[in-house]
Amino acid sequence: MTDSRVYLRVAIATPLRRVFTYLSPIGIDPATLQPGQRLRVPFGRRQAIGILLETSQQCDIETAKLKRAQALLDETPLLSATTLALLQRASDYYQHPPGEVIFGCLPAALRQGQPATLATTTYWQVTAACPDNAVEQLNRAPRQQAVLELLLRDVTHNLDSEAFVSAGLQNWQPAIRQLERRGWIQRRQLARTQPELTNVVTQPAFSLNAEQQQAVAAIVTTLGSFQVHLLDGITGSGKTEVYLQTVAEVLQRGEQVLILLPEIALTPQLIARFRERFNSHVAVLHSGLNDSERLQAWLQARAGSAQLILGTRSAVWTPLVRPGLIVVDEEHDLSFKQQDGFRYHARDVAIMRAQREQIPIVLGSATPSLESLHNANLGRYSHLHLRQRAGNAQSPAMQLLDIRQAKLHSGLSDRFIEAISARLDANQQILLFINRRGYAPVLLCHDCGWQAVCQRCDTAMTLHKAARRLRCHHCGHEQPLTRNCGGCQSENLLEVGQGTERIVETLAEIFPAARVVRIDRDSTHRRGSLQNLLDSIHSGEADILVGTQMLAKGHHFPGVALVGIVDADGGLYSSDFRAPERLAQLILQVSGRAGRADQPGTVIIQTHQPQHPLLVQLISAGYDAFAATALAEREQAGLPPFSHLALLRAEAPAESTVATFLQEARALMYHQTGELQLLGPVAAPRPKRAGHRRMQLLLQAQERQTLRSALPTWLLALENLPSGRKVRWSLDVDPQELA
Ligand code: ADP
Ligand code: ZN
Ligand code: ZN
Repeated sequence: MTDSRVYLRVAIATPLRRVFTYLSPIGIDPATLQPGQRLRVPFGRRQAIGILLETSQQCDIETAKLKRAQALLDETPLLSATTLALLQRASDYYQHPPGEVIFGCLPAALRQGQPATLATTTYWQVTAACPDNAVEQLNRAPRQQAVLELLLRDVTHNLDSEAFVSAGLQNWQPAIRQLERRGWIQRRQLARTQPELTNVVTQPAFSLNAEQQQAVAAIVTTLGSFQVHLLDGITGSGKTEVYLQTVAEVLQRGEQVLILLPEIALTPQLIARFRERFNSHVAVLHSGLNDSERLQAWLQARAGSAQLILGTRSAVWTPLVRPGLIVVDEEHDLSFKQQDGFRYHARDVAIMRAQREQIPIVLGSATPSLESLHNANLGRYSHLHLRQRAGNAQSPAMQLLDIRQAKLHSGLSDRFIEAISARLDANQQILLFINRRGYAPVLLCHDCGWQAVCQRCDTAMTLHKAARRLRCHHCGHEQPLTRNCGGCQSENLLEVGQGTERIVETLAEIFPAARVVRIDRDSTHRRGSLQNLLDSIHSGEADILVGTQMLAKGHHFPGVALVGIVDADGGLYSSDFRAPERLAQLILQVSGRAGRADQPGTVIIQTHQPQHPLLVQLISAGYDAFAATALAEREQAGLPPFSHLALLRAEAPAESTVATFLQEARALMYHQTGELQLLGPVAAPRPKRAGHRRMQLLLQAQERQTLRSALPTWLLALENLPSGRKVRWSLDVDPQELA
């Protein structure tokens, strides 16, 4: 058979929902090609990098029209068959173009066609030519002597530069060169060696409590097979300790562990615990890595020389040669969902992956998502409970503070201020949570009613007083703050509502001696500033800590005795059906940050709705009870997890363009009546952003299969719809936010 009859199906990074067919490169025997290898291919008028998905003997296209791939870039497949299958499954599940899925999940260096070579380190070894009396011969060359002695002492190991530095050898490079010239030593380029498992280090001083032991045992017995475990335990109940001990078992088996976290920058304590326990086995994929560091981490994971990989959402795609376990910490966290481009949910992809790899996966949370609880209720997941705080620590006491008719000082009621005052007197720390950065969310003219509004989004601009700017938190547009009303020039401007900046200012007025620290995106955008702020809290230099949801993500503040939630009401008014769930999670997550074993802390929640059933139930009966009620409500309303959603979003400068497209899209959806509900098109909850009108069409089905069978043909039809070219549109399968 000649090679022209073997057709290569290749994925290329384009928004087109298809793969492309090529002939194999000249001089390459197509029988040797393997899926997962990269090829350089002609694509339109340019060249592109492609990934070979399969070879085939069939082709619908005339051979004469086919182009030939130009070069093969990888000797061995870059992606394993399992990884490729996972990527294709994800492309299919989320109905996102395969090329974008596959290339979007590769490190940038590999996307650009760079070679997949593990960086090597230089090691030195004593050669056979080194005479027995070499050390004496070097009596008058003390540096060479010292280097040689070190190498002779450690003949079984190859020494690298770090070894010389840590042995305290000064200026060893010239000595190395001289020894090489004598032929007594030689250099070798080797990939960094895998550390021995004997240095799985430092076991904790305590032993696991009964619930923790059961959890570890339950997970460990499923090693080597697929099982989802929902590790459901309040903050401080010892979930992390369960991960650590389970991970130790997996590493002992010579297998790798992937741990997904919502945030790296905000969880230095967690990372430190993993590093302390497992030292050199840990690779952390964080946003500070440059392209080549990211590539190396990826390659080390693929080669097995990184055994424990910690990372955020995108780390779910990291290839592992010997996967043993996946952990998703804080599985309820919204940051696992990618909100643009390829809109996948890393927790759900991790589950698909664990199934393919036939390994267990642990979903940990103090406030599990209703989806996961539902799956546990159905018996699809094993449900592991940690109901006690580890080491007999107490849970914080929560109370609702009715602020109806109360006099407010920038949102703080007198009773709230008294509570703060009492804690300050006792030299205890206080954490105040408010979900808005900046000074005030609205700037209003008292004389004419004019408001500072972002023209591109039709929403209020947030006042940032220190920076003297007005900023739109939706599109990023900003402008200088003026003293006069934009309508009538009056100077009588009112700053309405509060953000972190204003709370800090108010606290400084009320408690001039207190040291107040602010943690939000504005105060931490400079590198290192977050760490400085956290340090000041831990060292006790700060008394009051004011911050946004950044505070809800995993960082623990043992010195904090009072947590105040300045305003819980926002979450109660939202139109998104998930808002109550998110509010409950937020309240508990913020509350869980405070206190330590001997000093459990108090949580005060200010609200205008102290009788709100959700709040009352959450406070009096806890998250489990809240979740049970919320699930019953979802079931009655036919909402997820009792149905499945897909959201078609579209936007364009003119509303009519968007409406036309969505109406045509709606008309094109063929389905059995009743199986699939089409809701809309309607204006998006945020109907305008950055000058674009936004609308959406919601698809809802009882069975996931209904959506899965209806979507592919529909999307191909949408791609060919002329009205679709005039809008920006996207499909979101399992949308997490309906905005
Ligand atoms: P979580 O991840 O659920 O918030 P951690 O694993 O961080 O809980 O545990 C909270 C604290 O309790 C940590 O300081 C941890 O070292 C400690 N701890 C965990 N398990 C135990 C135990 N069995 N006995 C005593 N202390 C424990
Ligand atoms: Zn805007
Ligand atoms: Zn005015």
